[in-house]
Amino acid sequence: MVDREERCAEPFCCFCESKDVTLIAPFGTAQLVRQYYCNACKSVFEFVRWQEEHPDES
Ligand SMILES: [Zn+2]
Repeated sequence: MVDREERCAEPFCCFCESKDVTLIAPFGTAQLVRQYYCNACKSVFEFVRWQEEHPDES
Protein backbone atom coordinates (compact mmCIF):
# COMPACT_ATOMS: atom_id res chain seq x y z
CA MET A 1 0.00 0.00 0.00
CA VAL A 2 1.53 3.27 -1.10
CA ASP A 3 1.04 6.41 0.89
CA ARG A 4 0.00 8.94 -1.72
CA GLU A 5 0.52 11.78 0.72
CA GLU A 6 4.23 11.36 0.18
CA ARG A 7 6.12 13.42 -2.34
CA CYS A 8 5.84 12.33 -5.94
CA ALA A 9 9.60 11.93 -6.17
CA GLU A 10 9.63 9.04 -3.77
CA PRO A 11 12.99 7.31 -3.64
CA PHE A 12 13.19 3.63 -4.37
CA CYS A 13 15.98 1.10 -4.65
CA CYS A 14 17.46 0.96 -8.14
CA PHE A 15 18.32 -2.72 -7.61
CA CYS A 16 15.15 -4.26 -6.24
CA GLU A 17 12.74 -1.30 -6.52
CA SER A 18 11.92 -1.52 -2.85
CA LYS A 19 10.79 1.67 -1.13
CA ASP A 20 12.02 0.44 2.22
CA VAL A 21 15.01 2.74 2.13
CA THR A 22 16.86 4.96 4.58
CA LEU A 23 18.49 8.27 3.76
CA ILE A 24 22.14 8.05 4.77
CA ALA A 25 23.49 11.22 3.17
CA PRO A 26 21.70 14.33 1.92
CA PHE A 27 24.29 14.71 -0.79
CA GLY A 28 26.05 12.04 -2.79
CA THR A 29 28.74 12.37 -5.43
CA ALA A 30 26.84 15.28 -6.92
CA GLN A 31 24.53 17.92 -5.54
CA LEU A 32 21.47 16.47 -7.17
CA VAL A 33 21.80 13.01 -5.74
CA ARG A 34 21.17 11.63 -2.31
CA GLN A 35 22.58 8.42 -0.95
CA TYR A 36 20.14 5.87 0.40
CA TYR A 37 20.47 2.47 1.99
CA CYS A 38 18.06 -0.22 0.91
CA ASN A 39 16.79 -2.29 3.83
CA ALA A 40 15.54 -4.96 1.47
CA CYS A 41 18.70 -5.91 -0.41
CA LYS A 42 21.25 -4.18 1.84
CA SER A 43 22.59 -2.02 -0.94
CA VAL A 44 23.63 1.60 -1.01
CA PHE A 45 22.35 3.53 -3.98
CA GLU A 46 22.01 7.11 -5.14
CA PHE A 47 18.69 8.62 -6.04
CA VAL A 48 18.69 11.59 -8.37
CA ARG A 49 16.25 14.26 -7.31
CA TRP A 50 16.10 15.93 -10.69
CA GLN A 51 12.31 15.92 -10.45
CA GLU A 52 12.49 18.74 -7.95
CA GLU A 53 14.93 20.80 -9.96
CA HIS A 54 13.13 20.53 -13.28
CA PRO A 55 9.38 20.70 -12.81
CA ASP A 56 7.41 19.64 -15.83
CA GLU A 57 6.10 22.87 -17.26
CA SER A 58 4.91 21.56 -20.61
ZN1 LIG B 1 17.13 -2.93 -2.84
